[in-house]
Amino acid sequence: MGDNHGSRKAAAPTPAQVADAVAFRPGDLLADRDTRDTSTAPGDREATEAATSALVEELAQLQEALYAEGVGGGHRSVLLLLQGMDTSGKDGTVRRVVGAMNPAGVRIVSFKKPTPEELQHDFLWRIDKQLPQAGEVVVFNRSQYEDVLVVRVHNLVPEAEWSTRYDTINEFERRVVDTGVHLVKVMLHISKAEQKQRLAERLEDPTKHWKYNVGDLKERAFWDDYQAAYQDALTRCSTTSAPWYVVPGDRKWYRDWVVANLLVDALRDMAPRYPAADFDVAEQRRAVAALE
Ligand code: AMP
Ligand code: MG
Repeated sequence: MGDNHGSRKAAAPTPAQVADAVAFRPGDLLADRDTRDTSTAPGDREATEAATSALVEELAQLQEALYAEGVGGGHRSVLLLLQGMDTSGKDGTVRRVVGAMNPAGVRIVSFKKPTPEELQHDFLWRIDKQLPQAGEVVVFNRSQYEDVLVVRVHNLVPEAEWSTRYDTINEFERRVVDTGVHLVKVMLHISKAEQKQRLAERLEDPTKHWKYNVGDLKERAFWDDYQAAYQDALTRCSTTSAPWYVVPGDRKWYRDWVVANLLVDALRDMAPRYPAADFDVAEQRRAVAALE
């Protein structure tokens, strides 16, 4: 302590270390996760935002390589799945962490209350249709997990039906991962007090009224039921091939830092490669030099 006083900065953790710190393992309790935690931040808010910017830039480069790899015949892709209570920051995370990537290779899919057509099919039907193509980065804003969250909380189908869905989801995800999709499942974890704060803020700003949903107050009354449903989904569907991450969400700048790390960790791990030219580069160089 004494001699280092004020002079030494802790080294920033690696993306793999950040991922490890927020991984949810079967046996973990959601209630033990501090929504205000900032323990992997490389510094104060300002320093963390700067570090996040650097990661987001790296992400854009990695994503371009993944996209190129797909064009060149590669089959790999990334699926970032976002879940969280209302106002937990799913849209903000997309804007700030995914926003710098090349839109040509990125697709954002929001899952709402199922349409009559969707309800005529198995709950995974609409999900399956939106899985990433080769080289794509797809973000799911809500997902198949709604079918064991809102559906369970409001008994939209009988328990006998939703209770089998955890295993169905695990099998589905294993198949998805086996086809080359790197799946990153994130729960943005906010406190009930923070939700109140965000709802109040939306009312204070006329440019945020469009985001305010009167129905969110009704859902808030089921807070504890949702937490229990999340606990079960996290416990039963955190698998080796598709683990869950619980990201502290009360501080937006920390949330962005963590999610950026999760994506950088995934993409560094994949190490996407630009495809080699499928033509004779030297010959083409000569041909271009000879152009009028
Ligand atoms: P938002 O994400 O704020 O646009 O809200 C979408 C709403 O659709 C949320 O209230 C979700 O709970 C709801 N929703 C999404 N998927 C389902 C589903 N499978 N069954 C019922 N409600 C759903
Ligand atoms: Mg909403």
